[in-house]
Amino acid sequence: MGIAEGVTLLSPTLGAERARRIIQEADPFVTGQHLAYPSDCDGPQVHLEAYFATETIVGFPEFVSWLIEDVAAWMTEKEFRPHVIFAPGTDPVRRFVEQLSRAVDARPVYLETKPSGRFGDTIEGSLPAGASVLAFNLTSVTGGRCIGFRLPDAVSQRGGHVIGTAAVALGISTLNEELRRRFPRNLYIAFHVAVTNHNPDACPANAPRLRPWQEASAEIMARLRR
Ligand SMILES: [Zn+2]
Repeated sequence: MGIAEGVTLLSPTLGAERARRIIQEADPFVTGQHLAYPSDCDGPQVHLEAYFATETIVGFPEFVSWLIEDVAAWMTEKEFRPHVIFAPGTDPVRRFVEQLSRAVDARPVYLETKPSGRFGDTIEGSLPAGASVLAFNLTSVTGGRCIGFRLPDAVSQRGGHVIGTAAVALGISTLNEELRRRFPRNLYIAFHVAVTNHNPDACPANAPRLRPWQEASAEIMARLRR
């Protein structure tokens, strides 16, 4: 269900009214962007053509409680009882995951995430071999690389067992299909958002100057404070 320009509600249980309030009041979506993601060149990079700052939503305790309620309801319906929620270790994600973990009686474990947005190799917290794990991120701006592949792969490499994956917002890319194939019945997405991307060698001729993605995030956070 389309609830705002570029934002589709995917979760059947969140409710259109709550979804509209989250998007209207947190106002997390911007178009017309040309953003380097991750912002360093230490590996593969894409250029985002829009941005969805789920980090702004985390500033609204009521919205966080609605989303946690919704993720928890999905887990109950699927009979998922993970030992661990495995997520990137950024501040906004931690704020959400600490609460989610308490709500579903799981432990948070974080993957090192550099200021550029790129994942590192170290984890924080205990991930016992054989532990059942829900992978989580606030936003998968590339359309599924983190929640579909990078996070689950990091869990598997350490002997954990991924039972599902979840994000508040999923961008649009060719990875969407692969993500759904890999997690056909165990994928939670609240919002599908019109954040598209292209490879660095395919910049459109009329693209604005390339900026680090953090600038768009900071601008969206700043307009909330006005
Ligand atoms: Zn470009």
